[in-house]
Amino acid sequence: MASSPTVLMRLVASAYSIAQKAGMIVRHVIAEGDLGIVEKTCATDLQTKADRLVQMSICSSLARKFPKLTIIGEEDLPSEEVDQELIEDGQWEEILKQPCPSQYRAIKEEDLVVWVDPLDGTKEYTEGLLDNVTVLIGIAYEGKAIAGVINQPYYNYQNNEKRKLREPRNEAKAGPDAVLGRTIWGVLGLGAFGFQLKEVPAGKHIITTTRSHNSKLVTDCITAMNPDDVLRVGGAGNKIIQLIEGKASAYVFASPGCKKWDTCAPEVILHAVGGKLTDIHGNALQYNKEVKHMNSAGVLATLRNYDYYASRVPESVKNALVP
Ligand code: AMP
Ligand code: MG
Ligand code: MG
Repeated sequence: MASSPTVLMRLVASAYSIAQKAGMIVRHVIAEGDLGIVEKTCATDLQTKADRLVQMSICSSLARKFPKLTIIGEEDLPSEEVDQELIEDGQWEEILKQPCPSQYRAIKEEDLVVWVDPLDGTKEYTEGLLDNVTVLIGIAYEGKAIAGVINQPYYNYQNNEKRKLREPRNEAKAGPDAVLGRTIWGVLGLGAFGFQLKEVPAGKHIITTTRSHNSKLVTDCITAMNPDDVLRVGGAGNKIIQLIEGKASAYVFASPGCKKWDTCAPEVILHAVGGKLTDIHGNALQYNKEVKHMNSAGVLATLRNYDYYASRVPESVKNALVP
C-alpha cells in the first residue's frame, strides 16, 4: 500500500496551488488598473498592490495549513486579518503522487524555512514587461534550498500587445490555444517539472543579467566573460527560466541587491536539472532562517559550463563583493 505523503511533498503540493492563485492575483491587479505603487528604498525598488496581496495570500495560506513553518516574505506588511478570499486551501494532486526523496522523508514541519518573493520583477511589472514577472516560493532545510515553486503569471503573453494591459480578464492568449500562465516546480533528488529543458547551442556564451539594477561592476564582470550576446531582463526567477529553456547560458549579477527570496526557488529548479547557482566567488548560498537576506556577493548561475564563467570573474570584482 502506498504510504501517505510526507510533510515536504504536502508542502510542495500546497505551494503549487497557492502559487497558481498568486498568479491570478497578479493578473487581476493589472486588470483592475490600479497598481498602487510605493517606493521602498529608491525609485528602482518598488512595491505594488500585487506584491502586497500576493504576499498576504501566500503567507497566510501556508501558515494556516502548516503552522510550524518558518515563513520569510519579502514585503514588510502590517499584521492584519487577511481576507478569506485570499486564502488558497488546495493542493496539486499530481505532486502528492510523486515519491519523496528518501533523505527528506523524516523532515518535520518545524525544520523547514520558506522564502517567499510574492512578485519578482516588480519594476518590470510596473512597466508592462509582464512576462518578466514570477512568483517564487522556495523551501529550505538545514540551510539548503531543496524544493521550489515558480509561477509565471504571464507566460504566453505577448508584451507588444499593450492593449491587453487594460483588459479586465485573465484568459488572454498568445496563440489560438495558448493558456496564460504556468507553474514550474521541483524537488532536489526528484527533478523539476512544468517546462521543457533546453540548452543554448554548444560554444555560445549568452549572458542574462539585470535590466533595472545595472552597475559598473556588473558590466565589468560580463565584459570579462567575452559573451556572444547579453540579455537584459527583469527578475531572478525569469533569468533562471531563461537558463533552463536554452535562452541564456549564464546569469551574472556581480552586485548586492538580490535577496534570499529571489534565489531560493530558482536555485532549486536549476539544481534539480544539473545546473549550479552560487555567489560570484563560487560559494553556495545559505537559506537558514537566521541568515542575512541580502546576497551581498552577487549571483552566478549556469545550466552547464559553470567553470567557464566562474574562472573569468575578475579579481577586482571579487574584491568589491564581500560575502
Ligand atoms: P533584477 O535582475 O534587476 O530584476 O533583480 C533581481 C531581483 O533582485 C529583483 O527582485 C530585484 O528587485 C532585486 N534587486 C537587485 N538589485 C537590487 C537593488 N539594487 N535594489 C533593490 N532590489 C534589487
Ligand atoms: Mg525579487
Ligand atoms: Mg519581489
